[in-house]
Amino acid sequence: MAGYTPMIQQYLKIKANYKDCFLFFRLGDFYEMFFNDAVAASRELEITLTSRDGGGEERIPMCGIPYHSAANYIKNLVEKGYKVAICEQVEDPKVAKGVVKREVVQLITPGTVMEGTMLEEKENNYLASISQITTHTFVITYSDLSTGENNIAVIEAGWEAVLNELFNRPIKEMVISNELDETYQSDLKQRLQVTLSYMDETVIQDDFIYLVENLADENVVQAFGRMLNYLQTTQKRALDHLKPVQMIELKQYMSLDMYSKRNLELTETIMRKGKQGSLLWVIDQTVTAMGGRMLKKWLERPLLNKRSIEKRFDLVQGFIEQFIEREAIRDVLKSIYDLERLSGRVAFGNVNARDLNQLKVSLSKVPDLKDQLRQFENRQVNALGDQLDPLNDLFGLLEDSLIEDPPISLKDGGIIRDGYNAKLDDYRYASRNGKKWIAELEQKEKQETNIKSLKIGYNRVFGYYIEVTRANIHLLPEGKYERKQTLTNAERYITPELKEKEALILEAEEKSIDLEYELFSELREQVKGFIPKLQQLAEKISEIDVIQGFASVSELNDYNRPSFNTERNVSIQEGRHPVIEKVMKDDSFVPNHVHMTDDHDILLITGPNMSGKSTYMRQLALTAIMAQVGCYVPCQSANLPIFDKIFTRIGAADDLVSGQSTFMVEMLEAKHAITNATENSLILLDEIGRGTSTYDGMALAQAIIEYIHEHVHAKTLFSTHYHELTSLDQALNKLKNIHVRAEEYEGKVVFLHQIQDGAADESYGIHVAQLAELPKSLIERATVILKQLEQKPDRNSQKQIVQEKDLQQLSFFEQEKKKANNRVPKKDGLLLKSLKNLNLMEMTPMEAMNELYRLHKQANEE
Ligand code: ADP
Ligand code: MG
Repeated sequence: MAGYTPMIQQYLKIKANYKDCFLFFRLGDFYEMFFNDAVAASRELEITLTSRDGGGEERIPMCGIPYHSAANYIKNLVEKGYKVAICEQVEDPKVAKGVVKREVVQLITPGTVMEGTMLEEKENNYLASISQITTHTFVITYSDLSTGENNIAVIEAGWEAVLNELFNRPIKEMVISNELDETYQSDLKQRLQVTLSYMDETVIQDDFIYLVENLADENVVQAFGRMLNYLQTTQKRALDHLKPVQMIELKQYMSLDMYSKRNLELTETIMRKGKQGSLLWVIDQTVTAMGGRMLKKWLERPLLNKRSIEKRFDLVQGFIEQFIEREAIRDVLKSIYDLERLSGRVAFGNVNARDLNQLKVSLSKVPDLKDQLRQFENRQVNALGDQLDPLNDLFGLLEDSLIEDPPISLKDGGIIRDGYNAKLDDYRYASRNGKKWIAELEQKEKQETNIKSLKIGYNRVFGYYIEVTRANIHLLPEGKYERKQTLTNAERYITPELKEKEALILEAEEKSIDLEYELFSELREQVKGFIPKLQQLAEKISEIDVIQGFASVSELNDYNRPSFNTERNVSIQEGRHPVIEKVMKDDSFVPNHVHMTDDHDILLITGPNMSGKSTYMRQLALTAIMAQVGCYVPCQSANLPIFDKIFTRIGAADDLVSGQSTFMVEMLEAKHAITNATENSLILLDEIGRGTSTYDGMALAQAIIEYIHEHVHAKTLFSTHYHELTSLDQALNKLKNIHVRAEEYEGKVVFLHQIQDGAADESYGIHVAQLAELPKSLIERATVILKQLEQKPDRNSQKQIVQEKDLQQLSFFEQEKKKANNRVPKKDGLLLKSLKNLNLMEMTPMEAMNELYRLHKQANEE
């Protein structure tokens, strides 16, 4: 360090404490970055990299951005997952002796941004922390700095369960201990793609004890301590709006593992990662941002308690029954701003008058909302209204203090109402009066001098002046006017009288602006006192919004209220897939029933590709989730069990595209399902075994079905392209075959998307091949082979069939080989080699057919 200039030394000292951040080092009107920060920032932000002499041997890389446009650059970096430390000059450079003092005043990180432009309106921005207690026990905390929300969940089932919990939540950053296992850390980085931050201090300072008062477990308290200490070190300012920590009792919610959250596309789609096309996208009819956030939270945690679910249904029903009143409520909600985030900004001290005005406008709507809720027949809906506290004191305060349409800037006055503060009124009187006096003076001067164009103006440099055009100067009397400024065709003058008044006016104005700022700061402090109540109000309003949204979407899409049973019966009449029916523009979605009594745990679904097997399976899971969230469901009627967990293994399109060790993923997901499911769970296994060679896959698929049938007893939908599995219904009495109907019509296969009992007809593959216009001889050959396969006598013993088919396949090749041997042996070898090299699992049916055609043609060439 020795050779560096004092400023660079100062820089290095500060930077040492913020190694994982970009240090924005304030230098006059710029934030400068040096050394590696500069190199990286110039790359990320596409700004010019320069260098400067810093006293060392080599010039120091440097790049900078003007402080007034820093916001965009910061946003850019934070969105990329980086952290930014803002280092300001904390003393006046004019009075500084030596290097100006500098300090980091704020750390902006992905999980702690507060600026409106960086936040998704309808999404929480969570900072999460993880603390490991024992090998299998972890405590997760969630904080949303923009809303003040703090939640804690205890996970006792090991690391995988932690990932399941965290997956797909809007977490941007995670605070962990330096001691957290390396493999866990890399899981977080790679699988959840969050920014990691470190905090080892877990002791909570006395000021914040009130946040954890209702937590019994010391481990949990300390886990929150890690989070809180991180917030304090990054924010370096008031955290008054943090709400007391709430425990999330995971046992009260349906458990959805990572795979299900992803596969079912509850809040985002697999391919595009956006909300569009997800279940949330379909059912979100909320009007406010707060309601949107709450809906998402509800959707991520479906309930298990029947009473709580029914309570939501009752409210939804109330809202459905009264369309006009519901629309009125939607209208009122539209004019309510984001109270949660406004409260957050009040606490942070970065609200302006316009924000407080939004608060006032929002509060002014609460009585309307209460009135409207009173209009409903439904008692529970009325009760929602009774619970709303319009915060009259706060409203009165804002109403009395703020003018109608205040400016954003706090520096120019014009914020506070007349009559709110006597002193302010005095200043304003003086200044207004002064202005009136000046207007009168202008009149008087005009008359006295007889110059019609004489006017009195004001500018910052000369203050008030009397302006006379050049042509009229000769009319002015001698002595009275002192010339101040000469323009091309006018002269500007002052008089002692004018200057005297000017002093009074300006003083009054300056004082009134200062006083307004002071009064506004006081006001902000007073509003702070209302934050907990505001947060409560926000929560109630969000709930009303979510419920009205459920009612609106249910009416719009013709959803119906489901009922629940404890006999593990599934009975859905004319069920639909909520998303696909929306995406299909022409109302052509075919509804299907789902029936599973206690006699049937497993539905084995067969049917040609693209017939609708996967859709049918997902539809059931989505329906169950919607029901347990408290929304009506897409069907004519539904009677369902309350599912404790949902597991899915669904071959998503991207698996086939990426082809990445699909089979391993498949097996992991299947393992996860069968080891964690209970008889009250729902399992969806879609075409399992597809990722490996036919016999492997079939054998595993069968074994998995048997295992579920014998040991797990969960309600299971199992789709398969192994037609052979359909005979399992003879050995497994709780398994039922169903299939998706397809028909041949004028030489074409028509998908009817209709589910029917029994197994599918096996020969559709050949029909499809026919449609693809494969050579006639090939189709005929395939038909013969199929016949042979079908004619095998004993279909009851599945294993036997597998083996026999194996043999058959071999003998088929044997025969072909013999034939070939009589021809050209070399070609035979080549053909066999190409056959062997085929990677069947990576091929589409069409590619397979093309390849077969090519081989066939080759084989027939003499
Ligand atoms: P499979 O899993 O049998 O290959 P999918 O469930 O993926 O078939 O469905 C393929 C396509 O068929 C869907 O994308 C959808 O467009 C259409 N489809 C599926 N089910 C229905 C239905 N019930 N009504 C109308 N179209 C459907
Ligand atoms: Mg499918």
